[in-house]
Amino acid sequence: MSNPCIICVAITGSVPTKADNPAVPITVEEQIESTHEAFDAGASIAHCHVRNDDQTPTADPEKFARLTEGLRKHCPGMIVQLSTGGRTGNGRERGGMLSLKPDMASPSVGSNNFPNRVYENTPELISWLSSETIKYNVKPEIEAFDLSHIFQAVKMVEDGRLKGPLYVQFVMGIKNAMPGDRQVFDFYKQTVERLAPDAKWCGAGIGPNQIKLNEWCISEGGHVRTGMEDNVRLDRHTLAPSNAALVKVAADMCEKYERPVATWQQAREILGLQLAA
Ligand SMILES: [Zn+2]
Repeated sequence: MSNPCIICVAITGSVPTKADNPAVPITVEEQIESTHEAFDAGASIAHCHVRNDDQTPTADPEKFARLTEGLRKHCPGMIVQLSTGGRTGNGRERGGMLSLKPDMASPSVGSNNFPNRVYENTPELISWLSSETIKYNVKPEIEAFDLSHIFQAVKMVEDGRLKGPLYVQFVMGIKNAMPGDRQVFDFYKQTVERLAPDAKWCGAGIGPNQIKLNEWCISEGGHVRTGMEDNVRLDRHTLAPSNAALVKVAADMCEKYERPVATWQQAREILGLQLAA
């Protein structure tokens, strides 16, 4: 099969609540069920945040542990990616779950603005988070919110602070950060391919950018992220009934561009990930 497309499902995130869409999974039990449906629909990576019972975000390692254990049991083979993103905790709290040895984590390598705050990643925190990914053998997915983040990630692999080959995600459409701009997307792709020929890349679009980024990535040979963390709607008028429904949109798009949806085995092979013992 030629160039299978990995679909990552970002099931919950830190922001959307049941008021935005009642199908957003909040409890660990809801998260496991929602991920299982998405896995059956073709997702091979689960990008995970955890929440408190009042829906506020947390970086509680105990919740991450229960979720990881449940996903390994109910979605065997699926790649578990725990968020080390900036809305779930402050400073080193963001890496407190890496000792659980998830398959992947999602560090950032630079700062930028979010809708209502600075997404602060100091050089010291970046070096520490990346050293923790090496220590616990967790593959980083580098969240590129800006062009400079691609250059920084390449430099960190060169100087040994990150383990390659890189997996870079272009994040587009966050208010006050990089919009979903096609020429920038094309330049991101060219830049990754030029600076790190062994890297793989994917894209995530926020809100209505999600389906747009799905199409750009699939048609250009990259991998995709979907799910309710980034977008709770199928279209302007319709709430997504589940994470699986958003995965199906991406899977249908793969069919349109004649790309097979990667199985979890193929996704692990593409990313160089062993199955956890
Ligand atoms: Zn996230």
